[in-house]
Amino acid sequence: MIETTGVDLEPLPWFAADWQRLQRAVWADRLGHALLLTGPGGIGKRRFADLFGASLLCAHPDADGLPCGTCEECALLRAGNHPDLTRLVPDADSKSGEIKVDQVRDLCARQSMTSNRGRRTLFRIAPAEAMNAAAANSLLKTLEEPASATLLLLVSEAPGSLPPTIRSRCQPVTLAAPPAEIALSWLRAWLPSGAPAEQLLAVARGAPLRAIELAADGQLERRDRCLRELRQVGGGDADPIAIAETWQSEDADLLLVWLASWLSDCLRLLADPHATHLTNPDQRQPLVELSRRLRAEPGHRFLQQVLSARGEAGTSVNKQLLFEALLLRWAHLTRQPTARH
Ligand SMILES: [Zn+2]
Repeated sequence: MIETTGVDLEPLPWFAADWQRLQRAVWADRLGHALLLTGPGGIGKRRFADLFGASLLCAHPDADGLPCGTCEECALLRAGNHPDLTRLVPDADSKSGEIKVDQVRDLCARQSMTSNRGRRTLFRIAPAEAMNAAAANSLLKTLEEPASATLLLLVSEAPGSLPPTIRSRCQPVTLAAPPAEIALSWLRAWLPSGAPAEQLLAVARGAPLRAIELAADGQLERRDRCLRELRQVGGGDADPIAIAETWQSEDADLLLVWLASWLSDCLRLLADPHATHLTNPDQRQPLVELSRRLRAEPGHRFLQQVLSARGEAGTSVNKQLLFEALLLRWAHLTRQPTARH
């Protein structure tokens, strides 16, 4: 589907150097026909790509190449319907989450049209690795015969999953997560006052835009609730089958990521109760308590089970059965008398 949200014309402070590097390429006329923007999820790669597109479409960009925000082009960009910036994402109702060949063909057909408003025609594809093989092949043809005023912006947090033939035709732009202090000062300005910025940033693994999402959809609370339920199952205070049922409404992959990260932290704490590098530093106390119920060897085996369940969660495996199996195993592991101290 084509994304129609408004383009945010506010630059993200941590990309200032990347921005200048790219602008220098524009001024020196060294910009290729396709850029591949890579970096961790949730740091603002799409926003950076859109802003770069805006800088090329804006009628009066400033000395740094930033869009003016007031011209007609900027107004269209803000409204999310500039005809020369097309943003392709997986269809919202697509079960596979793939970008399909028809979508790319449509895009390539548009590419053969001249720019609507005279400057350039820009296409942004994100996440680029969501293109299935047929879609990627179709895109390759476009990359081989690019229309002169076209710029393709591919955004990916897993560029290794892209066909090498596509990667080799793109100019790489590697973006990184910001240093914590820059991320925190930005986050504090954007979050509602009183929101736990540090905690959110830690859970988001340093990715500020992911932290904003976490705050917005109550993920932090849901994560706390799931850990509480895991402890209750471990303590014999909750029925694994009943908890598996409530977990069905969660995003299975996300929950398994949480579960794996809690187990890893428990195993670290088991080896060293003063371990400093936890994935979930904000949940240290409950994890210390949980680790006391666990023994290293079965704990490691259970972690493997959770990790392989992640591979299955993407398939049509029944979530209820998946979580039942894991929680029953967990109950068995943690309720053994020998596991208690
Ligand atoms: Zn403008």
